[in-house]
Amino acid sequence: REDVLAKDLRPDQVILEGKLGSGQFGEVRKGICLLSRSKSVPVAVKTLKNNDPAGEKEILSEASLMKRLNHQHIVRMIGVCKGESLMLVMELAELGPLKKYLEKNLTMKKWHQVEMMVQICDGMSYLESMDVVHRDLAARNVLLVSEHFAKISDFGMSRMVDNNSEYYRAHGPGRWPLMWYAPECLYFHKFDSKSDVWSFGVTMWEIMSNGTRPYERKKPQQILQFIEQGNRLSKPRDCDDRIYDIMLSCWELKKENRPNFKNLKDKLDHLYNEFYRSKR
Ligand code: ATP
Repeated sequence: REDVLAKDLRPDQVILEGKLGSGQFGEVRKGICLLSRSKSVPVAVKTLKNNDPAGEKEILSEASLMKRLNHQHIVRMIGVCKGESLMLVMELAELGPLKKYLEKNLTMKKWHQVEMMVQICDGMSYLESMDVVHRDLAARNVLLVSEHFAKISDFGMSRMVDNNSEYYRAHGPGRWPLMWYAPECLYFHKFDSKSDVWSFGVTMWEIMSNGTRPYERKKPQQILQFIEQGNRLSKPRDCDDRIYDIMLSCWELKKENRPNFKNLKDKLDHLYNEFYRSKR
């Protein structure tokens, strides 16, 4: 793996092809990265539009965080390329966002849905152990390498947690994904792995709901009120009670009462084994 460890790439090493999606500061394109004379890999390249300095800062900070991460369920960064404009080169997840997959595949088996949850949870448990908060975990930011291989992506909002305060305090609310955020994020702008756990619960709900938008058309203020009054996203159709109970545990108002990703992984592994055995 040494040749794919994150490094600076020369512009002639990156060949750009078609567009995969658009990001906040530019677009993401498919491409090929030439690692050596005899080795090339398919890649996804985040490109910057108009050399926007704010965008450049964001991409560099995303790159410096991604560089530290090394896990099978997290999109790996291959390198940064400073050509005419800055590019962030990552491994390609050919099948694209899980959200789109969920929208198209309406008859996923239970074991397959739980398999996705287990893999996301595994990646998140690694981030938790690295004191990284993702802050944008949602089905749109989980990418598929194959139908049975998910990776967490989009570290644009991710931060290291300060060891002293034990949470990250954001300036924000800029372009926040409010429907995925725990109450303490919305009220106090405090983020830690337990706020990612809340978002994971919403991501589980998306997986069980064919990629439907959470909270229908409620406005942000209405969602907060709805949650404060003790309401939660309702149980998706055909969702096993034990899966819904896990979601509800992620949405405990007090973060101390939420499980951590390691606990979640154990519970989901158990369910996965049961569903897989009976091919449900
Ligand atoms: P957002 O405004 O959603 O935060 P962003 O600027 O952070 O966007 P990404 O979400 O990282 O950008 O990427 C935008 C899109 O590009 C994704 O939805 C996905 O379709 C595609 N994409 C990004 N990274 C990859 C990858 N590694 N493999 C395949 N497709 C990718």
